[in-house]
Amino acid sequence: MIVKTHNSLKKQLKSIQLKSKTIGFVPTMGALHKGHLSLMQQAVNENDVLVVSIFVNPTQFNNQDDLEKYPRAIEKDYALIKKEFNDATILVYTPSVQDVYGENVHSNSYQYNGLEKVMEGANRPGHFDGVGTILEFLFKVVQPDKAYFGEKDYQQLQIVKKLVQKLALPVKIIGCPIKREENGLAMSSRNERLSKSTRKEAAIIYKILKDARRYIKNNSISKTIQMVENKFAQLPNFELEYFTINRESDLKPAIRKSKNTALRAFIVVHVEGVRLIDNLALDL
Ligand code: AMP
Repeated sequence: MIVKTHNSLKKQLKSIQLKSKTIGFVPTMGALHKGHLSLMQQAVNENDVLVVSIFVNPTQFNNQDDLEKYPRAIEKDYALIKKEFNDATILVYTPSVQDVYGENVHSNSYQYNGLEKVMEGANRPGHFDGVGTILEFLFKVVQPDKAYFGEKDYQQLQIVKKLVQKLALPVKIIGCPIKREENGLAMSSRNERLSKSTRKEAAIIYKILKDARRYIKNNSISKTIQMVENKFAQLPNFELEYFTINRESDLKPAIRKSKNTALRAFIVVHVEGVRLIDNLALDL
């Protein structure tokens, strides 16, 4: 069932909650693909009811052009969900900007113990305030038992865990693995904006991440970063925004390797005016 306002969603959820059913929640911005569906599948497996939100949240975009060009396909998305999970109890919440923000489209400010200071936080000013604002709103309306987030947005996943801890919201945050296209490109709604040939070529991003994972075993962190930067310097169509190797625990840039510290490589690349993001856990 589609619901378009938070008040009707609350009404629907009230009767469900009275029956003490568990609610799994998957927030999305739509243009759904198999990555989103994998989160929903896990939510369906682990809960009585699935709530999916589809909302392109304006306050988390720092670039107006990116916001305007973000793909929107609500009818198609709903058909896909229905086809995939036809016997599950599902509520799909597709609000307008006004339903979420009223007349005042702005974000609150959040501190996530420094997790917001690096990578996406440093490169997209205001992004994680926008993410915090929409998720605080959604968590309070949906009141899920569990909410599912992809490791594709690894920094976001860590920030959401911190958000619910700080706001003392009774929801368990579950991280789910990255789904990739056959050629290795991380699935993303933004991939739809790539030409067919570039979508193929963009497999190089994951390939270079895997090269880095191999290379770092016998080389320092700084040499690994250099190696990746050199590779992108030879790919004129791909503009590297950042490649960084950070600790998984606090997302701070890693200085040196240590067997006890889990590290992860993070990358953002621009191609054909589309911003692509990916990451990979490193084993040292
Ligand atoms: P989005 O619609 O891009 O905001 O993503 C909604 C949720 O789906 C977020 O938790 C993302 O991390 C997750 N997600 C997006 N792409 C993938 C993917 N390729 N694999 C796994 N999860 C994903």
